[in-house]
Amino acid sequence: MAPPGSFVEVPLGGRWVVGVVWDHLSDARIETSRLKPVRAVLPAPPMGASLRRFIDWVAAYTVSPTGAVLRMAMSAPSALEAPGQRTGWRLGLSDGQRITSDRARVLEALADGGAMAGYLLARAAAVTPAVLRGMADRGMLVPALLPLAARFARPDPAHAGPSLGPDQAAAAARLRAAVAARDFGVTLLRGVTGSGKTEVYHDAIAECLRQGRQALVLLPEIALSAQWLERFAARFGAAPALWHSELTAATRRDTWRAVAEGAAPVLVGARSALFLPFPDLGLIIVDEEHESAFKQEDGVVYHARDMAVVRARLAGAACVLVSATPSLETLFNVEAGRYGVLDLPARHGGAALPAVSALDLRLHPPERGRFLAPPLIEAITATLARGEQAMLFLNRRGYAPLTLCRTCGHRMQCPNCTAWLVEHRAQRRLACHHCGHSLPTPVACPACGVEHSLVPIGPGVERVQEEAQALFPEARRLVMASDSIPGPAAAAEAARRIEAREVDLIIGTQIVAKGWHFPHLTLVGVVDADLGLAGGDLRAAERTVQLLHQVAGRAGRAEAPGQVLLQTYNPEHPVMQALVANDLATFLAEERAQRLPGYWPPYGRLAALIVSAEDPQLAARAARDLGLLAPAGPGITVLGPAPAPLALLRGRHRHRLLLKAERGVAVQPLLRDWLARAKLPGSVRVQLDVDPVSFL
Ligand code: ADP
Ligand code: ZN
Repeated sequence: MAPPGSFVEVPLGGRWVVGVVWDHLSDARIETSRLKPVRAVLPAPPMGASLRRFIDWVAAYTVSPTGAVLRMAMSAPSALEAPGQRTGWRLGLSDGQRITSDRARVLEALADGGAMAGYLLARAAAVTPAVLRGMADRGMLVPALLPLAARFARPDPAHAGPSLGPDQAAAAARLRAAVAARDFGVTLLRGVTGSGKTEVYHDAIAECLRQGRQALVLLPEIALSAQWLERFAARFGAAPALWHSELTAATRRDTWRAVAEGAAPVLVGARSALFLPFPDLGLIIVDEEHESAFKQEDGVVYHARDMAVVRARLAGAACVLVSATPSLETLFNVEAGRYGVLDLPARHGGAALPAVSALDLRLHPPERGRFLAPPLIEAITATLARGEQAMLFLNRRGYAPLTLCRTCGHRMQCPNCTAWLVEHRAQRRLACHHCGHSLPTPVACPACGVEHSLVPIGPGVERVQEEAQALFPEARRLVMASDSIPGPAAAAEAARRIEAREVDLIIGTQIVAKGWHFPHLTLVGVVDADLGLAGGDLRAAERTVQLLHQVAGRAGRAEAPGQVLLQTYNPEHPVMQALVANDLATFLAEERAQRLPGYWPPYGRLAALIVSAEDPQLAARAARDLGLLAPAGPGITVLGPAPAPLALLRGRHRHRLLLKAERGVAVQPLLRDWLARAKLPGSVRVQLDVDPVSFL
């Protein structure tokens, strides 16, 4: 009999599908007569108990079918088949051959008798592939199968790291001890930008390697993490394994397999890496734990930060949450004594934090049709004149967020979504950032027919870049947005150019906020500091502070002090005051105090139901019916139904209900029971979102 966790092939509705032998079925009782025999047990290591219990846990918490969660843990189907073998080269016979210096280096690289993949060998010996081919033709190299582990180098914990400052050393010692305890525990590592949090948690990874266990690092935007990877390689003498959505199928397979076999000691990945089959996880690090990118919004809706804690508990691993601006949820857990906390209060090497000031746009309005205020322009001019770099931050892609007809007032809107079409001038198109719908920018207004009457309203990064071009024509500019920096290679190249001072002025969206370290960048201008406050959702202020603090942290390092200017119409707003005073703790305490009376998170729990259908009446009726069946009881409030702010998304009409419960109330049974009682037509979809981050 196949033991629990075995991957098996079974018949399902006339097809053969791959499943996992489960030992803990809570959500279904299956009659023995309906069970079918297993056709084959696949030659993959069985899924371990800690991952199986994690899948059960995530399914229960998010009120999702176990199978939907399990599918996330089987995202590399080919890894379940016979192990992928790859060939490389090992030494053949060199007798009677001419040994050029190229060839000598190849022979030396293989001198230990092992085999090496061609591309690695070419790199190690600094020769072209043609040299290898020539040697193979002469029998000097012979093909050899590569063992899996050879493709995943072992990071070396003893490889020299930087010597840590006193605060850093103290924090690192505590983290090492937590890992050495080989037991579950959560620690918040909090430190201002540039305090060396990464260096400190590298020590925790080193300890995990010494313990012979695996370490998982979650990053919010793995595709932008070129600098992070370089630093890791410098610290450990080898690269970590990577996991994100842009891997090729072959790399996915090899990585999944290497993780399952323990051959990948350190893996850095996006949130889906939580579902990889680590046999012996000793440490999980969640870097920038406050980031909303850790929330998965489609399919199984889960928060990777929270699930990382659960994964660590089930694996008996240490968990470290890292941030300069921790989420209120995490701070609440620290205060309740559930999480430990380590602080790094100062920047490494005595560098000062940047001086942040608010630039009142009412007193210093930009020129008509422009977006940069005169004092910001002066500051950029002075920075560039000193030969230093400046950055303009605006969290909005494209040229203009809205296109409007001057003649009739018509606004260009997405036909599928409650959203304006964003102009992308270089492509001469208007595009919806929600569904991808796009069309060539029309010459005539589609409503009144008047030509050349459509005008852009408001700025996106491309428009700021156009303004910068007019103001600073000599400055070498670089736009960093998800469309201009689409992947890891482009991000690495951008970082290289900035570090090599081939760029003077960076203009970017939130991707510039992410953990970059640019030693010559001394000025950050935030074009619209009020932008994130408009939405008015629960966490708008908290998120704006976190994002702007992160962006501000890019300015100034040990070499030169930094300056940050926030363009705002609300300099008195608590968010601006907190940033200017660099007093996030007071701000967050006030923010929390406001959430306490209404039992808003972190004091209470929320769960959202998003009801959608293509037919507007059907959607409205289903939402109303659900509202009538809403659970009631002490400590429970149900808000809505109400049309969602994004009332139309990808052609579906959406309504929202929000369940708010005091902390002691278990919301999952309520939700399950609520949905079970509702009889909704098949064309109506109900998306459940426990602990919602987005309220759109
Ligand atoms: P954080 O993650 O807290 O923003 P980092 O770990 O990125 O800080 O460190 C900021 C910069 O300071 C990096 O370039 C890092 O290499 C450098 N740094 C931090 N600590 C040390 C140290 N002890 N010795 C040398 N360089 C350090
Ligand atoms: Zn759309």
